[in-house]
Amino acid sequence: MRIVVVGGGLAGLTTAWLLEHDHETTLLEAQAELGGHVRSATTLHHGVECAVDLGAQDFSAVLFPRHARLIQLMGLAAEVVEVPTTVTIQVPDMPVPLLVTPDGTRSGILGAGGEARALLTRAAVDWDTEGVSWERSYADLVEPLPVTDGLKRTVLYAPVAALYGCSIDDARQVSGRAATAVLARSAAPAAGGSAGWQNLVGGLARLVRAIAVDLLATTIRTGSEITRMESGDRRWTLSTAGGQVYQADQVVLAVPPPRCLRLIRQFPHADRLNRALAGFRYLPSTTGLHLDPAYLPARADQWSTSNLTVYREHADSTAWYGPITGAQVFRSQLTHRPRLPERLVATADFEQLYPDAAAVRGRRVLADHQGRDGLWFAGHHLADIDSQETAVNSAIDIATRLAPDSHRLRMLTEEVGHDQRQGRQA
Ligand SMILES: Cc1cc2nc3c(=O)[nH]c(=O)nc-3n(C[C@H](O)[C@H](O)[C@H](O)COP(=O)(O)OP(=O)(O)OC[C@H]3O[C@@H](n4cnc5c(N)ncnc54)[C@H](O)[C@@H]3O)c2cc1C
Repeated sequence: MRIVVVGGGLAGLTTAWLLEHDHETTLLEAQAELGGHVRSATTLHHGVECAVDLGAQDFSAVLFPRHARLIQLMGLAAEVVEVPTTVTIQVPDMPVPLLVTPDGTRSGILGAGGEARALLTRAAVDWDTEGVSWERSYADLVEPLPVTDGLKRTVLYAPVAALYGCSIDDARQVSGRAATAVLARSAAPAAGGSAGWQNLVGGLARLVRAIAVDLLATTIRTGSEITRMESGDRRWTLSTAGGQVYQADQVVLAVPPPRCLRLIRQFPHADRLNRALAGFRYLPSTTGLHLDPAYLPARADQWSTSNLTVYREHADSTAWYGPITGAQVFRSQLTHRPRLPERLVATADFEQLYPDAAAVRGRRVLADHQGRDGLWFAGHHLADIDSQETAVNSAIDIATRLAPDSHRLRMLTEEVGHDQRQGRQA
């Protein structure tokens, strides 16, 4: 069959990689480069090149087993580094951080903030175990917890606001399970290891390049934004802004829902699908790589690998790479900062999924429509949390239907038990 995959992020790339030996596959990406939410930037530190991911960056072999397997299959397993997870939470104008988690070298500041965090972690494990509905809001789950309003705002809502780039108020309406799934699963990981976090040396763009290099049978076209789709006579016709036309028997839309909606809005009988796609909200988010510790506490012994600053209405985080790479390099969310870093090297803009109840309902509708009339959906929005694992799993689900005997599908799925899969439809 002729299959066109629209979107060259991790979901589209993995879909093409799984299908290309069984079908005539074309991958169309709007931007000049493949990768989507994966964007790595480099800088020099004492003459040594240091790469940092401005978009997707963290993964976990335990929580993201398919993604880990993909990295392995691409020959990059030796390039994976452990990320020591330490956390600082600070509020501007407060002389001392609210929370600094201890590690081997410091005792930290825990106090009531630490207790609130520990309480949330225990509750999150319970919500995960009990299978609480993904449609219940974070506020619905958090409000009954015996924590002061002030600490709820700074220690429970603010990290979720930073995670999804929304206001602290809007963090209340995020799906409570989406907000806490990673916390719960890291605290009670599936059998087989502790749920530490990892990064790829040189950045995740290396994974994108490795998959692209392996796509020997796929026609790849970057700078090819699909602006129109038509169907008729059991065949799809896709047109780019530049006037190129592609014919396909099956189309995989590996693009975020707002982009899907633009393409299929005019189709007859697609009202339910259109309503579901329109329900997904995305928020703008900007990150930057910088060389000055712009947003970190004055005392370096209070710096963590993850540092959250809680402003009046928003919260933004900074990753410090010192303990990981030895380089004094920082990656910050810049979306709501009152000022930019002095030594800013690179920035990137993203649209980030806001995972509320409408998104949870929307993905069920998308699951119902999978494959109808030869139209498929892939991407980070299709299952419980917006992650690389979800993107890879969405590709696996399509390949399971369109190329069940694919050798690559077997290689990607064989190492991991079914019950260990994360990021499936909730
Ligand atoms: C700032 C940020 C940080 C993140 N950090 C992490 C992290 O640390 N760990 C993690 O697991 N996940 C993280 N994520 C989640 C991330 O969304 C997923 O990990 C994953 O990279 C998404 O892949 P995707 O293919 O589904 O979507 P995308 O990466 O968004 O890819 C979609 C692609 O479709 C293309 N496209 C759109 N419209 C068209 C069109 N009409 N025609 C052709 N092409 C089109 C886009 O240009 C894009 O390349 C982060 C997300 C953001 C925004």
